Amino acid sequence: MAKISVPPARVVTSLPGRNDECWCGSGKKFKKCHLDRAKSEPTREPVIRREMTREFERASACMHPRAPSECSGGIIRAHTVQRATSLAAIASNGHVIRLNSETRSPERIGVREASTFRGFCEHHDGTLFKALDTRAFSGSREQLALLGFRATAQELHKKQSALRAQSLIRKTDAGRSVISQIEMQNYFDSAAFGAHLGLQDMQVEKQRWDAELVDPANVEALIVPLPKDYPMRCTGTCAPEFDFGGTRRQSLDEQLLANWTYSIHSASNGVFAVMAWLGPSPIVQRMVDSFCSLPHSLQGEALGRLALTHFENTFISENWWSSLTPSARDEAARIVGTFDPRGDELIPSGSLPFPNLTEPVQTLRAVAPSEPK
Ligand SMILES: [Zn+2]
Ligand SMILES: [Zn+2]
Repeated sequence: MAKISVPPARVVTSLPGRNDECWCGSGKKFKKCHLDRAKSEPTREPVIRREMTREFERASACMHPRAPSECSGGIIRAHTVQRATSLAAIASNGHVIRLNSETRSPERIGVREASTFRGFCEHHDGTLFKALDTRAFSGSREQLALLGFRATAQELHKKQSALRAQSLIRKTDAGRSVISQIEMQNYFDSAAFGAHLGLQDMQVEKQRWDAELVDPANVEALIVPLPKDYPMRCTGTCAPEFDFGGTRRQSLDEQLLANWTYSIHSASNGVFAVMAWLGPSPIVQRMVDSFCSLPHSLQGEALGRLALTHFENTFISENWWSSLTPSARDEAARIVGTFDPRGDELIPSGSLPFPNLTEPVQTLRAVAPSEPK
């Protein structure tokens, strides 16, 4: 696979004139950009965080493949983890828990707000996901394509917001010396470069899932039935580096990573962990095989670890959280949002008490045939 080469860091040997272009690459004049930055008031953390949240909550254009010609109504807050079945099943008093990956502490969040993003018009959100959200889960190709598409659309929205937020982040060098401004801007450059690549990757992925909505011919999946009291719901897409045994399967500095989508979904007929991807993908296949070869008693925990390490959009039952021992809570806080950097965060060890699976999963499940139209 092609390795990505990061562009070299900028070298600033002398500062530009007042009316010349700023050294930072913003395209603005120096006097309107970095000239007085060392003297300006540093931006406070809460202000940045608030502005970032606003950026992530901004509506995008409708992400339906036939947008905008068929759209109607405004862009609404769409749930990515269905509220009435999935979130309600783990809520107490209308709330669920999310572990904040920055503070590593639990936050209560109302099920109305949990897992929403503003990426679909009212019409498309209401019609597109009906086959998934109002019917029993059969694991048909149509339902799998909807799960994969929704997870991917949400991820694309997140990556677009992250890139827009770059301009906010670039202002956080206020009040710093010129030397540290340059260092910080160099660091932001490499972050922006990574964000661009991530966005491109997700745009390609989204187009592939768009096509699956019309003809779900390439979707492959592992569907794992979970016990009714499974305390977590999630949805998202990721490109893990390590498998469940700690073996590296791909490296994040490669272009076009093997992505998979993951959902813990509940419907009238039960709770299911669904790994869905576009095949053939030997890398994902090996990761899935590594899950299937885990001892049965650790598979329930492995699925929870996958949600905690790789998906921000993960919600936890408050009852389960309050039943944990302090050391189990510490372990959950240690791994949350880490993306498994050392290759051991995904490996189940018995330290997180997830319920056992109802039946052992030893082989890859075939996808159910399409429903007759
Ligand atoms: Zn500048
Ligand atoms: Zn629409």
